[in-house]
Amino acid sequence: MVRTEKLTPGLVRVVLGGPGLDGYTAADGTDAYVNLAFAPEGAPYGPVFDPQEVRGLGLPRELQPVRRRYTVRSWDPAVRELAIDFVVHGDTGVAGPWAAAARAGDVLVLEGPACGYRPDAEADWHLMLGDESALPAVAASLEALHPDARAVVRLVCDGPEHQVPLSSPGDIDVAWLHRTGSSADGELLVEATRALDFPPGQVHAFVHGEAEEIRSVRRHLLLERGLQRSDMSCSPYWRRTMTDEAWRAVKRDFISAMDADVA
Ligand SMILES: Cc1cc2nc3c(=O)[nH]c(=O)nc-3n(C[C@H](O)[C@H](O)[C@H](O)COP(=O)(O)OP(=O)(O)OC[C@H]3O[C@@H](n4cnc5c(N)ncnc54)[C@H](O)[C@@H]3O)c2cc1C
Repeated sequence: MVRTEKLTPGLVRVVLGGPGLDGYTAADGTDAYVNLAFAPEGAPYGPVFDPQEVRGLGLPRELQPVRRRYTVRSWDPAVRELAIDFVVHGDTGVAGPWAAAARAGDVLVLEGPACGYRPDAEADWHLMLGDESALPAVAASLEALHPDARAVVRLVCDGPEHQVPLSSPGDIDVAWLHRTGSSADGELLVEATRALDFPPGQVHAFVHGEAEEIRSVRRHLLLERGLQRSDMSCSPYWRRTMTDEAWRAVKRDFISAMDADVA
């Protein structure tokens, strides 16, 4: 890791570089993501390790690497630097606290990338919805828009000091939705989406973030706005109150329930 940058009180950019990235090849999407692997306390390997090799050692679960998935905010092939923007969400968890404490020279083990989305050049307009965890992919997607493209962007965050400047060659309508700490926070994204006057024509949507929030937005887009599943990239990145391990254990059932919402 070569440097960190505090983007907002809740967002840290970690810039990786060095020979460890020699084999890195960019993915084609604007939501490219990598799988991070953290050595747990007491692990008989690390700090540099091959996650695949470690998986083959048959170690007990508590000594296996902790896995987390993060978006590649940017990859600069000229200087071979890769940036990841981490949400710092308090003292709990593994990846968030790691990023908050990261210093130049620290090691981050990653595999990938893979991807699933790029704004469709054929679409008449783009809709991008999410929270801070989706912000890196939204920012990269906006930067990749064609100058003739149009995008409507709604993003949830904790307040004005948590906003980051977004730029695009296209025409963008960006609004930030601020949490207030009330139970209505979970409705901010779907309410803002309900309030939109959709521009005419074919939309291509990117909807990622907290699971329950994404579920409500998806239901609204499919049932009340007439979007088809193929019109959107939609995935619940994380789930409030659950660690990523707990979330991955129930994610498949949650996605089936999301599908049942609109069956
Ligand atoms: C494809 C993909 C791309 C992603 N890209 C990014 C990215 O670029 N940047 C990013 O920050 N996240 C991103 N995420 C989400 C990230 O993987 C999760 O937020 C992950 O749970 C964080 O791990 P942790 O170890 O910090 O916390 P965990 O150990 O998983 O969770 C500990 C506690 O923190 C809560 N928590 C987790 N994430 C958040 C959050 N964002 N805000 C508030 N509370 C939270 C949990 O609900 C839990 O209560 C992405 C997820 C996916 C699937």
